[in-house]
Order: sequence, then structure tokens, then C-alpha cells
Amino acid sequence: MPKGSPVSPPGRPKGEYRSAQHEGSPVSAHLRVVCPHCDTTNRGLRERLDAGANCGSCKQALLPGRPLELTAANFDRHVAGNDLPLVVDFWAPWCGPCRMMAPAYEQAAAQLAREARIAKLDTESEPGLASRFGIRSIPTLVVFRNGREVARQSGAMDLPGLLRWIRAGG
Ligand SMILES: [Zn+2]
Repeated sequence: MPKGSPVSPPGRPKGEYRSAQHEGSPVSAHLRVVCPHCDTTNRGLRERLDAGANCGSCKQALLPGRPLELTAANFDRHVAGNDLPLVVDFWAPWCGPCRMMAPAYEQAAAQLAREARIAKLDTESEPGLASRFGIRSIPTLVVFRNGREVARQSGAMDLPGLLRWIRAGG
């Protein structure tokens, strides 16, 4: 190699998440996680999916521990591409109970980062998605698993209620 040529770190295939942990791991299932920043579907080992796991494409944190914002542009990709359950809070800025629940929802997102994808959808800016899912009151929480709705509940919940409901599968 000629002197002075740029040295780049050994790359990984695009879309495989990177982790701060490097120890060998036993055989385990791969898990798909859609990046909350660039919407790339990442595949990697479940035990590598931790707070240090980064997107193989944009290198940002895959589990930022806060709700990700869904829009018509990325909604279907997140519903279909995550192997973790995806929880969507259908809300709106003018909705008092939604705003009241927001801090608890953010805390739930931090605590459930490895267990579920926690997302928000602003029904004011995305009325098409609200009507597609027949959202009649907000806040309404909907849980998707393997691309399909498995549970929904309307009305604000506190943090213990959110954790319990989401961990029970909605
Ligand atoms: Zn990314």
C-alpha cells in the first residue's frame, strides 16, 4: 500500500448494527430494527442490541430511549420492519390529555428501549393515518407486532400503567 493512502476502519455490511460490546456471543436469533433517524432496516444479534448499538447506515443510536416520530413517509416501514413490538401514540398538540401523558410516555420509552419500539404519530399533521386506523379519540395507543395491530387502548395512562400495558403486549 503506498504511503499516505487513507486508512479506513474495517467496514461492516450496511444495515448491520454496531455495538460497543464485542465479546463473542452464543447462537441467537437475529432481530430487525428500523433506525429512528434514517429509517434503514438493521439486522443484528439480539444481545448486541443495547444502548450502544448504532445504525449500520447513519451510525446514530438505534435505541435512543425516546419516542420516535412517525409520518406517512416512514410509518409502514416501521410497522413492517421491526421485530420488536411497535407502540404508537396517536396524539395531537391541541389535546390536553395527550400533553399530560407525554412525560410518562417519554419515561416509558427510556425504560422499554430494548423491549419495544416507542413511537408517536401527530394526528393533526397526519390525518390520513389517523383515519386509516379509525382513530376516534386521542390519545390512543396501538401496538403492532409483525406488521399487524394486536392491541389498542384510548385514554391517557400514567407511567406504571403504560409499562404494565406495554409489557403485557398491549
Ligand atoms: Zn440510521
